Amino acid sequence: MATFPIRVFGDPVLRQETEEITDVDGAVAKLAKDMIDTMYAAPGVGLAANQVGVERRMFVYDVGDGPGVVINPRLVESSGEWTYEEGCLSVPDLSWPIVRPRQVRLVGVGLDGEQLDVEADELLARCFQHEVDHLDGVLLIERLDPARRKEALRVLRQRALGDPAGAAAAAAGLLG
Ligand code: ZN
Repeated sequence: MATFPIRVFGDPVLRQETEEITDVDGAVAKLAKDMIDTMYAAPGVGLAANQVGVERRMFVYDVGDGPGVVINPRLVESSGEWTYEEGCLSVPDLSWPIVRPRQVRLVGVGLDGEQLDVEADELLARCFQHEVDHLDGVLLIERLDPARRKEALRVLRQRALGDPAGAAAAAAGLLG
């Protein structure tokens, strides 16, 4: 089993838009396997390639139904609204109730090179949206309303300065 260190808030790779994968080859399969190991070890329910420093458009996930891999994912439809307590492996120990669409349709490519077209709702839909955001260089903090975002950045700044009291928070409902 091989795991990667997970990049955390402040690392510029998390703000980078990732590049499409043109060849689904053995190197991509190896990367997917190591990312799944990293996700389980964390533990989390999703992990995007740039969270382990690889600027490629791919994520892995497991919301309880076994692991999946999506290469070159795109969200093509969304509907409804759902509030869910959301955290991020790259923003450790913090979580917020975040409103996003309840249902999404995701297209991409599987490890076998076949086209994927998945309709998801609630937790799986939330996971897909969170991971696609990562691959676009977007962190969940940007999904907060301005007041919460300001407070989140204050806590993260205090944490960077080594003030643990400023960083106390509840465990997250979703980590990806
Ligand atoms: Zn995340």
